[in-house]
Amino acid sequence: MHQQAKENSLMKLWTKILIGMVVGVVLGAFAPAFVPYVAPVGTLFINAIKMLIVPLVFASLVTGMTSMDDVKKLGRISAKTIGIYLTTTLIAISIGLIVGELLQPGAGMNLVAAGEQVAKEAPSLSKTLTGLIPKNPIDAMVKGNILQIIIFAIFLGLSINFAGEKAAPVKTFFSSFAEVMYSMTAIVMACAPYGVAALIAKVVAQYGLDALLPLAKIIGAVYVGAILHVFVTYSSYVAVVARLNPVKFFRGILDAIMVAFSTTSSAGTLPATIRCAEKNLGVSSSVSSFVLPLGATINMDGTAIYQGVCALFIAQAYNIDLTMGNIVTIMLTGTLASIGTAGVPGAGLIMLSLILSSVGLPMEGIALIAGIDRILDMARTTVNISGDAMTAVLVSRTENELDEEVYNAM
Ligand code: ASP
Repeated sequence: MHQQAKENSLMKLWTKILIGMVVGVVLGAFAPAFVPYVAPVGTLFINAIKMLIVPLVFASLVTGMTSMDDVKKLGRISAKTIGIYLTTTLIAISIGLIVGELLQPGAGMNLVAAGEQVAKEAPSLSKTLTGLIPKNPIDAMVKGNILQIIIFAIFLGLSINFAGEKAAPVKTFFSSFAEVMYSMTAIVMACAPYGVAALIAKVVAQYGLDALLPLAKIIGAVYVGAILHVFVTYSSYVAVVARLNPVKFFRGILDAIMVAFSTTSSAGTLPATIRCAEKNLGVSSSVSSFVLPLGATINMDGTAIYQGVCALFIAQAYNIDLTMGNIVTIMLTGTLASIGTAGVPGAGLIMLSLILSSVGLPMEGIALIAGIDRILDMARTTVNISGDAMTAVLVSRTENELDEEVYNAM
């Protein structure tokens, strides 16, 4: 496509999504009675992007693997990706703790713990690890288990490489199938403005101002942490490590940001994130097809910020003093918990129980947050996918696989 025409069509999409958001806010605020009639449009949109995930991730990852027939390179890319994911998550939880300490969102609430448990069970780390290899890859696809799908796709891609000439038709099939899935993603993304409008209208209609005011401080603290991390940490990484203009980075991921903000699911946003990374930022498909699905599963910086802020909020609300040891425990369990958090709406709230129990904070604190969790989830999911996209840019840049012309045209 001609560069100018391409730019125009991209501009149009995010502008349309933005208009969709505004329409949603107006509708939810002034015509809440009308919202149940438009809400199904939001569900349709979420279903449509979920429909893309398994075939898109699978086909593009297999193709990515077959275009990366150098095993050393695969090892290097994995090490870089996981290294960046871990360091940014540690920074994220530190930002959450600092913001929670400075803004004191729970101060003055003077609640008394009753000792009742409201937590749901969080999956254990060893269970996640042993479950990495799918006993049945078809079952993994049916259940939409992204980590298992990633593992199977890597095995399949490597095996195609080992089989050489004989596997040529299979290799061609997957690269052609991936292209088909990219076209389907484009179709679904074209409907994003309508879906986003409906989703936002529902949220606004559901939470009147009355629900938000008492918890305005915790909402403010999570958003401040999220904004700091995205604009300070990510911008620095993009500017200093990748030596690229961060403004272009944010412009390139706007579509995905808006989808994340309105769906509150990193996994659900994955097709949009992949599309933005490749089409707007020039990330090679072999890098994006590996880095992004993995990120949507294990890299949750927004969730880490949220866990830091919420742990402090609950400690402050119940007047519990945390020791330095407690803080270190929160940092470690928070990092692990964010890795274990699924990229689906509300998952972070469940994982919060893990952090609270690790330092003996009252579980019923979760109930305080649950009512407004969706609003917090919007911020953390946006950060989560921005971190994935940032890592994809960094990895492809350092592997000399970033198309600078595409990036700079943003
Ligand atoms: N909803 C978040 C996501 O999908 C996870 C969370 O709840 O923290 O990224």
